[in-house]
Amino acid sequence: MIRLQGLSVDSLYINELLVKFFDCKNVVIMLFFSNSNIMKSLAVYCSSSNIIHQDYFEAARMLGKAMAEKSFQLVYGGGMVGLMGEVARSVKQHGGKTLGVVPEALNLDNVVNDIDDELIITTGMRERKAIMDDRADAFLGLPGGFGTFEEMFEVLTLKQLGYHNKPIVFLNIRGYYDKLLDMFDHIYSEQFAKPEYRQLYHVSENVLDVIDYLSEYQPPQLPDKWFV
Ligand code: AMP
Repeated sequence: MIRLQGLSVDSLYINELLVKFFDCKNVVIMLFFSNSNIMKSLAVYCSSSNIIHQDYFEAARMLGKAMAEKSFQLVYGGGMVGLMGEVARSVKQHGGKTLGVVPEALNLDNVVNDIDDELIITTGMRERKAIMDDRADAFLGLPGGFGTFEEMFEVLTLKQLGYHNKPIVFLNIRGYYDKLLDMFDHIYSEQFAKPEYRQLYHVSENVLDVIDYLSEYQPPQLPDKWFV
């Protein structure tokens, strides 16, 4: 029996390698993953503004604490500003891990956090988003501006086209996303998207619900995107 602990979810591939390596027809290899040791990663997209309502900062702190407690690594834009910085500081304060992915142009003093366990500097925004998408097992949008919307829409459209099947959550603090969700309803009622596509994303009103949703997530079986 081989016991491996503290492995990331990607490490499940090790199972296959071990079976090949030992060429074991009669040997049972058991991998034990206790919940506390599985490090999943959550990309958090959120505001870079420092002057928004304190409720948003409170939610960012609660999220960081919950992520650390549940061993979700934070994947984020690496900024020390706004909600980005607040989530990252909270994750670190509570013993969690962070990965910042920053484009060269934003790698500036007083902008980039210096607390990350891992910091990746990319040549541009496209490479940065690709790395964030790749390194995340799930995506969460805290309230934010154009940058946050762009990031959330990218992961939504990629999921819609079947490029990934990872969970996507809007954390709707202070009803920030209500108007966007109304717009989504308009998209369905005007038949620009199928109503089943509501399953592309989940809306949480609090951090506890985010964690529950991620823990129980089952990828949806969606109908073909095209209206014909
Ligand atoms: P916004 O919602 O317009 O404030 O933009 C925030 C989003 O864009 C974040 O999720 C980041 O990924 C990215 N972003 C914006 N500003 C920065 C910054 N100074 N450093 C790193 N990422 C940033």
